[in-house]
Amino acid sequence: MSATTLLIHDGSAAPDAPVTRVGGLPLAPAGTPWPTCTACSGPLQFIAHLVLDGGRGVLAVFMCANDPGGCEEWSATAGGNRAYLFPPAGLVPIPLPALPASEDEDTDEEADDDEDEEDEDDDEDVRQLGAVRTVERVAAAGPEYGAAAKAWSERSGRPRRHVLGQLGGVADWLQYDETPDCAGCGRPMEFVAQLEEGPDPLTAPNFGSGSAYAHACEPCGRAAFLWQC
Ligand SMILES: [Zn+2]
Ligand SMILES: [Zn+2]
Repeated sequence: MSATTLLIHDGSAAPDAPVTRVGGLPLAPAGTPWPTCTACSGPLQFIAHLVLDGGRGVLAVFMCANDPGGCEEWSATAGGNRAYLFPPAGLVPIPLPALPASEDEDTDEEADDDEDEEDEDDDEDVRQLGAVRTVERVAAAGPEYGAAAKAWSERSGRPRRHVLGQLGGVADWLQYDETPDCAGCGRPMEFVAQLEEGPDPLTAPNFGSGSAYAHACEPCGRAAFLWQC
């Protein structure tokens, strides 16, 4: 017997709310540094706080937004994203790091440079998403995520894009099964959650219009993140 737990867009919350959410601030053991991108050294963007069932812990997902497409941020192993499995209690918000220095510094100075930079700053903070989205968990019969999401949309009359993903269940791979192996024990990791970009492109994580997949190895305390499109 198998079921699907859909994560349905359910409004907003405080950035540090200790609930499953996309966006806001990461919660981590005190003293945890804000992670940086292995490829470009910039601060990663916090994507999601995922509370696992049964007090098994919390997944914190980060991804590089400093140079979209340039840091292989879709890959579980290239260093352009990061996922952590933290214990369920004793977590505190990680303070926001300083914004990285402008990339335009070493380009030719032109009169309209400043204007462009301001526009970019208004558009996106490379450290945080532009909105906090909480989720309602909706149980659906059957293991097929795509079918469950479609049925929910038809039943509720709400758009398919309000399905922000699924918690547990069976990964619905857009391409092929890319279940990562644990860097600690070498075994295939357990599927934890699937994430979608959601209803608003301006505040959405950038999964290339595809879907993202979070995995964990609880015995090793490790997590991994990747996306496909
Ligand atoms: Zn990067
Ligand atoms: Zn392991």
